[in-house]
Amino acid sequence: MATHHLSCHCGAVSLDADIELDNLMTCNCSMCGRTGAIMAFVPVSKLSHIAGEANLTDYQFGPKRIHHGFCKTCGGRPFARGPGHDGQEWAMVNVRCIEGLDVHTLEIARKYDGKSA
Ligand SMILES: [Zn+2]
Repeated sequence: MATHHLSCHCGAVSLDADIELDNLMTCNCSMCGRTGAIMAFVPVSKLSHIAGEANLTDYQFGPKRIHHGFCKTCGGRPFARGPGHDGQEWAMVNVRCIEGLDVHTLEIARKYDGKSA
């Protein structure tokens, strides 16, 4: 498990996340289809040093289980969170926000059909 540093575009929001880049997912739901996140899922406990959280909006839709945070300044979306089926809180980390990462080097392991879910 490697620790990656993530930030929104303007830098108002940043965090560290212990994530692997070998099981990444995209999704075609009404949200992900528009915002284009490439996601890694980890328990919220794998996030640390979250800075600027007050600069995030808290957007929810549909069943309103997931908190989609968007930077109020630049619209960046480094992470979202919500309860998993196991009852513990999970984070969706948008690996596009990893600093210094070339997203073209990423392999997408799974395309989730959220549009049909
Ligand atoms: Zn920002």
